[in-house]
Amino acid sequence: MLSEELIELAKERMRPFACEGFVRGRGPVEADLMFVGEAPGKTELEIGRPFTGQAGKIFSGYLERLGVTREEVFITSAVRSRPYKIVEKIVKGKPVTKNYNRTPNKKEILAHAPILDEEIRQVNPKLLIPMGKTAVWRLTGRDVSMQEVTGRLFEIPIMQLAGLDQTNYRLTKETYRVFPIYHPAAILYARRLETKAYQDIDRLKQLKDSL
Ligand code: URA
Repeated sequence: MLSEELIELAKERMRPFACEGFVRGRGPVEADLMFVGEAPGKTELEIGRPFTGQAGKIFSGYLERLGVTREEVFITSAVRSRPYKIVEKIVKGKPVTKNYNRTPNKKEILAHAPILDEEIRQVNPKLLIPMGKTAVWRLTGRDVSMQEVTGRLFEIPIMQLAGLDQTNYRLTKETYRVFPIYHPAAILYARRLETKAYQDIDRLKQLKDSL
């Protein structure tokens, strides 16, 4: 669905940053639900599909509870390359180099903004579901605590790049239904969030069933 030109442009825009590869968003163009994550990690890059690593297992649990398959929903993220950081450590007296996944920064999110804008334009989902702070920021421009927004439905304009030659966002004229939930990785790291996360998924199921 994304043109090769747009992908090349996104790669070019990302060139100054420590990000590698490109994993396309996945799903049917007529999907009602669009899940927006943060950025692919090592596993996603190897497999070439979003949410296939550890967080992907939790994400699959979300979908199962919602009663939908991966083929029925659109899955993407704020950034479609893998942001990494290289850390040198001394392990047992020997230098070891580790290459970790990391959260994308605002410049990297801006670099890939045309990708998410185009996916939203083409799919025009009935519900946009940002998972985690990065995706909420990308869509709403609000730096919120997830606790305040998860499981709530917002009917709001969203941020899109003001133009391919611009470095700022603008708000869309139309409003979108936005339902933030916890990023699946948040549950991996903080099991105490699990109950609330699944309550939010149950609320999302009600919304989905009423579409
Ligand atoms: N986290 C994301 O936000 N996206 C992925 O594809 C994997 C992990």
